Amino acid sequence: MLNESRLSPARPGILFVVSAPSGAGKTSLCRQIFDKFTDLRDSISFTTRPMRPNEQDGIDYRFVDRPRFEAMIAAGDFVEWAEVHGNLYGTALSALSQAASSGADLLLEIDCQGALQIRNALSGAVFIFVLPPNFTELERRLRGRMTDDENTIVQRLHNARAEISQARWYDYTIVNDDFNSAVHDFGAIISAERCRTRLLAGFVEQHFP
Ligand code: 5GP
Repeated sequence: MLNESRLSPARPGILFVVSAPSGAGKTSLCRQIFDKFTDLRDSISFTTRPMRPNEQDGIDYRFVDRPRFEAMIAAGDFVEWAEVHGNLYGTALSALSQAASSGADLLLEIDCQGALQIRNALSGAVFIFVLPPNFTELERRLRGRMTDDENTIVQRLHNARAEISQARWYDYTIVNDDFNSAVHDFGAIISAERCRTRLLAGFVEQHFP
């Protein structure tokens, strides 16, 4: 378990943005990271996608219908939103403002379109892309999880190529070949970002006046 409560005064929160084609293992990786960094805040996205059997409303996503989602767009409730595989997904502005006001670090698991919107709207976020080792492995993983029908799998494989072409503008790339190594790399990125000198200016001022 890693947390930073020993650092006082608190530094500004960091926004970590993670993208990956489906099947790259992003969700499992993020789960491990939340276990390891207990003070890292999760952002629960809104989506119009139907709930999968293993999912819970309010934990995995906030599941809403399209009219409700569209009303939220009109009300300016989202910091970013995108249509992914035919469904709408969005990050509520309130998730960001709550984390910012408490100085917490926040991890967003969003697609490349949403990540680009964050990059254009905010400065200072850290962008991480998770790659599968290759396409054959990606297809094997997508078929193995048996939650999607054939059309969905074909669409996800097609979209994966476009998504992977976006990886080049991210700050970090994690290749999820060996899961434990990928968790290690992910953790190393978070730890390194937390040690940035500019974030620790308040700490240095207070303890080394
Ligand atoms: P899934 O339906 O497999 O959970 O997610 C499909 C895709 O939607 C993934 O690439 C995931 O990162 C993305 N996604 C999940 N939440 C959001 C969100 O709030 N905004 C955006 N832009 N994409 C999201």
